[in-house]
Amino acid sequence: MKRVYTAESIVQVTHVRNLLSAEGIRSELRNDRLAGVIGEIPFLETWPELWVGELDYERARELVEQELHGPGLEEPAWTCPGCGERIEGQFTECWNCGRERARTGA
Ligand SMILES: [Zn+2]
Repeated sequence: MKRVYTAESIVQVTHVRNLLSAEGIRSELRNDRLAGVIGEIPFLETWPELWVGELDYERARELVEQELHGPGLEEPAWTCPGCGERIEGQFTECWNCGRERARTGA
């Protein structure tokens, strides 16, 4: 098995685990028994870890990457068809003439 993800918070690790599980990838949670070991090993080593089988590793790694750095919510800037103004992606209509952003392919 290979370690595909680790995070300080069990919540994050569980989130990623659910994500993988939704894609049909089985994973194993390790280091989740925090109580009792703190004080004996350095704190960093007690982070919960997510492990997957060798065969699932590449795919799991991709999913984790997507989750961490995936496509943001940021929309590309667009040009108003009415007045030619350049509009930032987060706006759905032109601040200059009020024209709505044209739907792609419409
Ligand atoms: Zn406009």
